[in-house]
Amino acid sequence: MSSIARIALNRPLRRLFDYRIPEGMDLVPGQRVRIPFGRQQATGLVVETGVQPPANITIKPIISELETWPALPEETFKLLSWASSYYQHPLGECLFTALPASLRKGRPAKEKAEQWWTARGSAEELPTNAHKQRALMSWLAEREEGASDRDIVRAGYTRAQIRALQNKHLIHPDIRRPRPDAVTDANPGGRTPTLSAAQAHAASKLSTPSEGFSASLLYGITGSGKTEIYLHYLKKNLEPDQQALVLVPEINLTPQTVARFRHYFGHRIVVWHSALNDSERLSTWLKIRNGEPIILIGTRSAVLLPFTGLKTIIVDEEHDSSYKQGEGFRYSGRDVAVYRAHLNACPVILGSATPSLESYHNALQQKYHLIRLEERAGNAQPPEISLLDIRSRPLEGGMSQPALDAIRKTLENGHQALVFVNRRGFAPVMMCFDCGHMVECPRCDTRLTYHRRDRAMRCHHCDYQTAATEQCPSCKSDAFKPVGQGTERTEDILATTFPETPIVRVDRDSTQRKGSIQSILDTVNTGKPCVLVGTQMLAKGHDFPGVTLVVVVNADGGLFSVDFRAPEQLIQTLLQVSGRAGRGKARGKVLVQTCHSDHPLLRSLCDGRYLDMADQLLTEREAGQFPPFRAMAIFRAEADSMEQGLALLDSIKPLAQAPGIDAWGPLPALIARRADRHRSQLILNAASRKQLNLLLKGICEQLDQRKIPGNVKWVIDVDPQETG
Ligand code: ADP
Ligand code: ZN
Ligand code: ZN
Repeated sequence: MSSIARIALNRPLRRLFDYRIPEGMDLVPGQRVRIPFGRQQATGLVVETGVQPPANITIKPIISELETWPALPEETFKLLSWASSYYQHPLGECLFTALPASLRKGRPAKEKAEQWWTARGSAEELPTNAHKQRALMSWLAEREEGASDRDIVRAGYTRAQIRALQNKHLIHPDIRRPRPDAVTDANPGGRTPTLSAAQAHAASKLSTPSEGFSASLLYGITGSGKTEIYLHYLKKNLEPDQQALVLVPEINLTPQTVARFRHYFGHRIVVWHSALNDSERLSTWLKIRNGEPIILIGTRSAVLLPFTGLKTIIVDEEHDSSYKQGEGFRYSGRDVAVYRAHLNACPVILGSATPSLESYHNALQQKYHLIRLEERAGNAQPPEISLLDIRSRPLEGGMSQPALDAIRKTLENGHQALVFVNRRGFAPVMMCFDCGHMVECPRCDTRLTYHRRDRAMRCHHCDYQTAATEQCPSCKSDAFKPVGQGTERTEDILATTFPETPIVRVDRDSTQRKGSIQSILDTVNTGKPCVLVGTQMLAKGHDFPGVTLVVVVNADGGLFSVDFRAPEQLIQTLLQVSGRAGRGKARGKVLVQTCHSDHPLLRSLCDGRYLDMADQLLTEREAGQFPPFRAMAIFRAEADSMEQGLALLDSIKPLAQAPGIDAWGPLPALIARRADRHRSQLILNAASRKQLNLLLKGICEQLDQRKIPGNVKWVIDVDPQETG
């Protein structure tokens, strides 16, 4: 009698589906199959085989296997199964995140072949007036291996011209697999720095892949040369047939990093990020799955891919909050990376100048090796950080006179300056000074941000926008003014104050166009005086050797937040931005504008000793019984009314009553209404991770049995990054 396979579907359902395995079909877990589902067909992934069929129930057979090998090899399958149960997310959706879109849809796991052309004749055989065809002919003749349709069109020729040459039998068609894109910046074997004594010492403490699992926290101050250590480590330790994974917070922002890796490893470097198209994704996925010895530089989701020869994982800027997925399958790329290294018995290196308190705590607990690198590479000095009290100073576009003077002096010395503002747009609020009206989002409990460049008022929490007005929409008064700073406003002030100097704005709005980051970097890389003004984006891993001054327009945002992570995130951001200063020959200076210059956190920032601050913050976390000393999860509800969401969470709370577990709430979220949905949350804070996990599992099972109105949605966020 034939047996049954349990199949996972790419649906948000906490259950699997049984199908009969047809005679002669041999299935293993992780394999893709096509199955009948309702009146349609669906792509499924085999989770289990050999299940005994229940009596008296007809079970539909699997239609076909999509390939004879598992799309998800055993290790990847185990990893995702673990993640499903750790993050309480349906197994099907977890497994399918490891597949590119085309494979999720059931397309074949093969690259689309491309049409290639090679020259057979010569341009001389064409009439002299067929200029374009002759040009294409000579262009092709220069390429011995030929060129693909895509390359020919990219070079400025048309398909009609290709056809004309084909009809004249001057070129020869050929079907081939796509080549990786030509890498222009690859120069393996070029000159690379030798490690400094401090770097070499740090590198020598990293365990090698042959020693099996190890987790190291490489604490290296900004500009200490961590990237150089990763490069040397891989060069020295990764065998030619092995794979490595380098996770980075955002690739598009730092093309320099990829360029540096290509300089060492050439075509062995492959990238994975959200801007890849479907065929690039599939082609990269196949390389990973086939065990090709690549070094993958990727963002968060790269950690879920089906590697088959993974021997080293590096997580750069491990503190970065973008490693945590904020919706759907809410995993932490960093934490999954550590678990994966464990499964693979290979090393994981977590690098940061401002380690997360979680990782630092693990290092203090001896779970990770702590490796300290506390001097900058290449003779550069750490920047000098000072606070600038702005309580009684007049400000222009948020800038105080001493800050503007410091920028002027920097530019006069031929250097570059960087100004950090924590908001994009012109101003976070438009307010009427006659009637007090402030423009709010009609769909959210937030104010609209004024974007002067586009004459728009935009909500940064939903996609609402409306035209900006000159007068108060409520009382028509002209006393309708922007309040507070955004990057556009600061950019304007700088442009007026320094009319001769290029002012470069870097935020989500200014970098949307493709290639805009590169043109920004090109301006900075000329080394000529300029001022960069931007958001968080500027804090991320850039190496700007010409920048000697950093001005923080306002440091006070995170000082009094209700979120227990706010102080940690504040000092991380401030130290990371500060770290952009003085990476070249001249020492860097950082001016932090604040209304709270006596705040202890800001005072200790000036010493620039991150681990001392981290020790202090950990003491506070322990006293308050917060993570990493406890395990936290949040039930979040979203509904058409606040009552519905709170009622659901209220019904969950009794299920969470257990010794060792605190349940806080339910309460409306900080932004209680977003895109017309009312949001609330119930926080669970547990003494034991295991207990929390079991409890969550139990609650999910109960909730799945219940009839919950379709307009009420709930999710669990394990190890939440935001508690507002
Ligand atoms: P981090 O990743 O720690 O911020 P990077 O690896 O980007 O630091 O190094 C900072 C700068 O110092 C880069 O410009 C890099 O090229 C340079 N650098 C790193 N190591 C060395 C070295 N051993 N000798 C000279 N320059 C170095
Ligand atoms: Zn008004
Ligand atoms: Zn809104």
